[in-house]
Amino acid sequence: MQTWKGIFRESLTRPAEFASALALEPSLIERVLSRYPALVNPYFKELCDAAGAPLARQVLPDALEISAENEAFPEDPIGEDAFSPVPNLSHRYEDRVLFLISDICPVFCRFCTRKRKVGRSLSVSPATIDEGIIYIRDCQKVRDVLLSGGDPLMLDDPLLDSILGRVRAIDHVEIIRIGSRVPAALPQRVTARLASILSRHGPLFLHLHFNHPEELTGQARDACLRLTRAGIPLASQTVLLKGINDNPDTLEALFRGLLTMRVRPYYLFQCDTVRGTAHFRTPLGTGIRIMQELRKRTSPMALPLFVVDLPGGAGKSFPALSSVEDHGQPGQAIITPDGQKIPYPDP
Ligand SMILES: *Cc1c(COP(=O)(O)O)cnc(C)c1O
Repeated sequence: MQTWKGIFRESLTRPAEFASALALEPSLIERVLSRYPALVNPYFKELCDAAGAPLARQVLPDALEISAENEAFPEDPIGEDAFSPVPNLSHRYEDRVLFLISDICPVFCRFCTRKRKVGRSLSVSPATIDEGIIYIRDCQKVRDVLLSGGDPLMLDDPLLDSILGRVRAIDHVEIIRIGSRVPAALPQRVTARLASILSRHGPLFLHLHFNHPEELTGQARDACLRLTRAGIPLASQTVLLKGINDNPDTLEALFRGLLTMRVRPYYLFQCDTVRGTAHFRTPLGTGIRIMQELRKRTSPMALPLFVVDLPGGAGKSFPALSSVEDHGQPGQAIITPDGQKIPYPDP
């Protein structure tokens, strides 16, 4: 059997490979990829071929990424870098930090909030990891460390084991969380050895990333089973994507399916106002109304929280229809979390 690294090495990454797969002008694809690298591994490529547009559009490059509309958006709208006391670590909420320890993913989602970082072999050096760990060690208030990237599970076993061990050794850190697209996009990576490493650093929670019921394959299911058997609680985060999963039927099937894999839906994210991803965004009302409809159809067990990460680093907000006002201008809304009024570009 091929190892996960063997599979990953055969990923599509070059403009010519995408140009032939997409029947698109090679020079156009080259322009898109020079701005935003692309990567689709053979497992996910096969799923795209079988399931069609809802999966393919998540990972195949598109000329819309460099459209004029897209160029108008900021690269880091939710202000992650502005809230970074040390590189690759955001400290916005008192008791928890977001620590980016990898810049590689099993697939490069075209709607990624960190489109500015992923796949650029930029920033995750041993020195960055050291600095982040020292910051957490010196900051007594941090009781929850959320590791993300990129995808932390794409690191080699020994490196991941050592980072987890160093974070776990800090007395005031109560829980560790890892955000990962691996079980959905490269389930072969979830080996017995990986599950055993993760189980040694508990309490450790995995926040998986599933967007469509077609991602719930037998292999994804097996990967989740290896993790739950190792004692790792699983949650899922989904991004609401125009034309991909922005309707109650698709999301009902996804959330119910996840529960059968012992994965608890946690967040449904409004797609951020990130440069290069505008064509995936839905109006705020879409997410709010889908959640209202699902509340009628299913137990709260299957309901994530609908969340908007507000522009300018104002943080996460959980909008209801009553908290969204008309701005009076097309394409603009106002969100009022706790009485504050925050302008929001609503497509
Ligand atoms: C989302 C986020 C977290 C984790 O938030 P939870 O709502 O607890 O899941 C932590 N830090 C930052 C900067 C975040 O954006």
